Amino acid sequence: MNLTTKVLWGLLLGALAGALLNALDNAWLDMYIVDGALYAGGKLFVNALKMLVVPLVIFSLIPGVFAIGDIRLLGKVGSKSIALYIATTAIAIATAITLAALLGIGEGGTPPADIVFEGRSAGKNTLDILIGIVPTNIFQAFASGDMLAIIFFSIFFGIAALSIKEQTKETVNFIEQMNKIVMQMVEMVMWFAPYAVFCLIGKAIADVGVNLILDLIGYFVVVIAALLIHAFVTQMFILKTFTGMNIGLFLHKIRSAQLFAFSTSSSGATIPVTLRTVQNRIGVDRAISSFSVPFGATINMDGTAIMQGVATVFIANLYGIDLGLTGYLVVVLTAVLASIGTAAVPSVGLVMLTLVFEQVNLPVAAIGLIMGVDRLLDMTRTAVNVTGDTVVTSIVAKSEGKLNMDVFNDPDAGHLEEIHINDKAQ
Ligand code: ASP
Repeated sequence: MNLTTKVLWGLLLGALAGALLNALDNAWLDMYIVDGALYAGGKLFVNALKMLVVPLVIFSLIPGVFAIGDIRLLGKVGSKSIALYIATTAIAIATAITLAALLGIGEGGTPPADIVFEGRSAGKNTLDILIGIVPTNIFQAFASGDMLAIIFFSIFFGIAALSIKEQTKETVNFIEQMNKIVMQMVEMVMWFAPYAVFCLIGKAIADVGVNLILDLIGYFVVVIAALLIHAFVTQMFILKTFTGMNIGLFLHKIRSAQLFAFSTSSSGATIPVTLRTVQNRIGVDRAISSFSVPFGATINMDGTAIMQGVATVFIANLYGIDLGLTGYLVVVLTAVLASIGTAAVPSVGLVMLTLVFEQVNLPVAAIGLIMGVDRLLDMTRTAVNVTGDTVVTSIVAKSEGKLNMDVFNDPDAGHLEEIHINDKAQ
């Protein structure tokens, strides 16, 4: 059985175990299994992945910039990625708003009187976020996993190394080897994926009340539908148009990244897997992916924007507030801007939603209403966020002649190999 199949089994069995635990609703099981074993198993795995993100981004970005060898090309790759990330997010939220408005979700309902939701403001404004790209202390940025600052520093480092390349080759070679080691660590961590996914899904389902979903079925279904339309129709159409790649094969190859995103609910924690997928399975040159993937994980959140679009229409309708066209344009703009400045971690979408609601004067407390089902939606939208990262990265790579179609066309390229530790080195 290959790893992806094993992960799928982990997902399925985990969901079943979670549903069972949820139905049993037993205090002992909840304490020792759900909040004990399952929690620890999932958390250990996500920690291990997150632990690798910062070194991986630094070590792959510096040689990546060095390999591009041309600073102008770097600018081109950067601007193309930004433009595509922003455009796809705008399309995503527009689709969501249109679908939700056409279906009229929330119309005629009565808003419950007793909901509570503490507005959790993101704290920083857009200008501060932009300024923060240049960190005052790089170690602080490393320590807090501040992705945009880390990307900035690594690119700057790479450019400087490139400008005196006769003297820096060995250093870059060394960093390159560090990158190989960290990549190998990623593969080793991934061997635990099937069990970890079992734990992550098991806990998520055990925690979620099924009747909560029933209460909000309209909202839930519309978000899921918009997510599926965006991931399987819009994004694939864009991919096909720009690259001519075979959609079936592409979806097959990105499946493991999608599954990891789904199970961890964090595009950030999935970066190691996404990088591995686009480089080894799809054939994107590292010079492109080492920039585009961590960048996308940070600023590209199509799935999150979709949830925000549907949530806005749902709450506006429920409270009988007419936002009008201008209101919805403000929503699109705020959601796109908010996605740039917020971290790729579980549930951050709700924080961003606070920002959006504040802009158009919707009651922030109403977010409490949809919070109960957010865990499941978070998993699905994170998978869509990561899908977007792989699509944009492939398009940019193709347009720069940095996509190896031989790798892409080989269905087995980049399959995880069994790892042998050579312990007989005497
Ligand atoms: N969990 C999402 C991500 O990491 C963000 C969100 O929508 O809450 O991409």
